[in-house]
Amino acid sequence: MDRRPSDAEILEAVEAYARRRGVPDRPAGPGAEAPAWQVLLDFRIVRSVETRGERPMREPGSRDDIASRPTYTDIGSHRVPPPDDPELSRSRLLVRGGSLGEERCADCDGGTNKCGTCGGRGVRDCPRFVDCPVCEGGPDACWECEGTGRSRSRRPPHLRAGASPADRAARVRCTRCRIDDVACPKCRGRRQLDCPDCKKSGHVECTACSGTKRVTHQECRGTGRFTVWTEGWIHQNPHRAKERRLGRLDLRRATGNTGHWYETILRKTTDKLPDDLDGSDEALVAPHLTPRKDEVARRATLRRLPLAHVRVPADPHRDYFAFPSHTGIEVTSRPTTERVRHFAAIATASVALVVIVVLLAMALLR
Ligand SMILES: [Zn+2]
Ligand SMILES: [Zn+2]
Ligand SMILES: [Zn+2]
Ligand SMILES: [Zn+2]
Ligand SMILES: [Zn+2]
Repeated sequence: MDRRPSDAEILEAVEAYARRRGVPDRPAGPGAEAPAWQVLLDFRIVRSVETRGERPMREPGSRDDIASRPTYTDIGSHRVPPPDDPELSRSRLLVRGGSLGEERCADCDGGTNKCGTCGGRGVRDCPRFVDCPVCEGGPDACWECEGTGRSRSRRPPHLRAGASPADRAARVRCTRCRIDDVACPKCRGRRQLDCPDCKKSGHVECTACSGTKRVTHQECRGTGRFTVWTEGWIHQNPHRAKERRLGRLDLRRATGNTGHWYETILRKTTDKLPDDLDGSDEALVAPHLTPRKDEVARRATLRRLPLAHVRVPADPHRDYFAFPSHTGIEVTSRPTTERVRHFAAIATASVALVVIVVLLAMALLR
């Protein structure tokens, strides 16, 4: 039903509903009141609000993609179309006409600089020899000459370190003093080994530049130049507001699902609210329709559902509600709030009574 039903139509629908519930009386009969009307209201507005500005840009390398962006002369007055749907967020990046150019990187030479780690040598110094890890480069390198080549042992042979055959088993001939079974097996009496990193050459490749003597300049990402331009940006973003008056909580599912809400959609700032809106509803909604600065599009949706409240004299403890639905008039009923309070009071009294009985029983059993 796409109009507000008449009082007579409402009473007729309520009567049919009450009869199905087994209430014989006619709601329109003696003692009956006219339906009390209220209008449920659900208002939402989404506006697309525009923000814009500009900023200087400087990015490494040649940015060929920038030239394909649209240009503008004055960001404040540059016109862009409003979004078809104000719910959509949209951002535009533009280039101020004539601002696009390239400049050489002042802090490098064609994208690279001399390697600071190796000073541009491509290599780093490294000791040619390292201490033997087994004898730790000390006198234990050889029991006879301590790695010097000249026998230093003043002790008689049977008291010298490694005098027993077991001690001598792991030892080898010394390359310095040429005595058998006295030298460290790793360095053979030399105390030191050739450096495994530089293979005795005295230098290794610089890890910072991999031996190339130059490193990439990070700031320009090795390109040796920057693209510069003035960027203008325009953002369109949705801003939402709502006002709702949805009536009794326990009716919302019914009215929301089956009610035939009358919908009005306003898309322009000059679009007017419907004339049949009452003063308080208009006062609720109208402030939201005032155009905002930088608003470029809007969609305001006003949905209303007239809801009739009917009392049936033969069923005084229930409230009857009726509203237009897609198929006609929907009727539903709820216990009156007095009735709900009455039963709540009975329940509270019952609990209190049980507590008293229990306390009495406990007192008697002591
Ligand atoms: Zn550079
Ligand atoms: Zn030796
Ligand atoms: Zn050794
Ligand atoms: Zn080395
Ligand atoms: Zn280097």
